[in-house]
Amino acid sequence: MPRSSKEIISLFDSFVIPNYKRYPVALVKGEGAYVWDAEGNRYIDFFPGWGSNMFGYCPAPVVKAVQEQSARLIHVPNSWYTEEQGLWAKMLSERTNFGGKAFFCNSGAEANEAAIKLVRLHSAENKYKIITFQGSFHGRTMGTVTATAQPKYHKGLEPLLPGFTYVPYGDLGAVEEAIDEETAAIMIEPIQGEGGVRVPPKGFLPGLRKLCDDHGLLLVFDEVQTGCGRTGEWFASNYFGVVPDIMTLAKSICSGFVGAAMLAKKEIAPDLRPGMHASTFGGNSIAAAAGIATIKMVEEEGLLEKAKVLGERFKNRFNQLAENLDIIQEVRGVGAMIGAELKVEGAFCVEQCMKRKLLINCTHGNVIRLLPAVNTPFDLVDEGLDIIEDVLRKGA
Ligand SMILES: *Cc1c(COP(=O)(O)O)cnc(C)c1O
Repeated sequence: MPRSSKEIISLFDSFVIPNYKRYPVALVKGEGAYVWDAEGNRYIDFFPGWGSNMFGYCPAPVVKAVQEQSARLIHVPNSWYTEEQGLWAKMLSERTNFGGKAFFCNSGAEANEAAIKLVRLHSAENKYKIITFQGSFHGRTMGTVTATAQPKYHKGLEPLLPGFTYVPYGDLGAVEEAIDEETAAIMIEPIQGEGGVRVPPKGFLPGLRKLCDDHGLLLVFDEVQTGCGRTGEWFASNYFGVVPDIMTLAKSICSGFVGAAMLAKKEIAPDLRPGMHASTFGGNSIAAAAGIATIKMVEEEGLLEKAKVLGERFKNRFNQLAENLDIIQEVRGVGAMIGAELKVEGAFCVEQCMKRKLLINCTHGNVIRLLPAVNTPFDLVDEGLDIIEDVLRKGA
């Protein structure tokens, strides 16, 4: 007999550090937009893998690539070359708007750490400051949590890493004012994810590019959440038509398998020189196989276009709802990255949806955030949206 959710939870209570707030449910298998718990309940998931599972659970081409690769070669350290890692880098590079070269690692935080180190290594000795934005989220390592300009994540961890300056998101004047002779870079999520699906005001990202050019700064795009097709373009930088110097990727890069990358312009990349940075598992052969399969699947199944169409379907429905439901403050998003800001705390909505077997996320307290699989069938989209509508109508 497989263990029940209750039995699995008691294992955690005894043996797993309780640093996460978890729902009282153990998940055991998934397929597409569906996931099952230990009791056999089936859920529709509009937030699979926190946005990592770009094609939902266990997409066949990725499963096949991982199975084949794991039977051939699981891991080779970076003291050797592998074809998989080289091809993966080429395929990513060709889809960015700046070419560039890749450093591989295992999480969004690590990719951003690599970016922070590259900024410091590339810049003159007296230049080390990085400007980041209020409401941002860049990860949980000491460096990236410092880059994350949200005081609630800093409590008890001080002293933080020196050299970060925080400014309001969307305020070009404030950025210009914050630049001094020690500033080396501006680091930003082109669309804030955890901060509440915040889309930048028109002209903001091009404005940052210009400030960087005028002041000799590097522009770092954290595309851990927006990258790899989520916006309906390969990267949000393509969507906004702005060229960064450095870009970081994780979450959906391997369709839910562990993998991450930092890409940097060819002129900057060599400053991450031998001896200055490394990762034992970075660019691991299985991750590379999953990453390559992910890129192929996006293109062979036309998923960039699908992400756009899917996102429109979600947003149209939320916009209709907003017209006659006072509880919705604003609907935001690009492609399959959708946010609905409520006038009240959103926890009730997550809870009620889960009771009705729909999994969603609420971030920043009051923003319903959906990062659905880009190939979610429309009938499931509508079924889930019916549940959300019903829950929002009933209210908190
Ligand atoms: C999730 C996220 C991170 C952190 O990624 P981890 O893999 O959890 O370290 C960093 N930046 C953004 C924009 C994210 O959404």
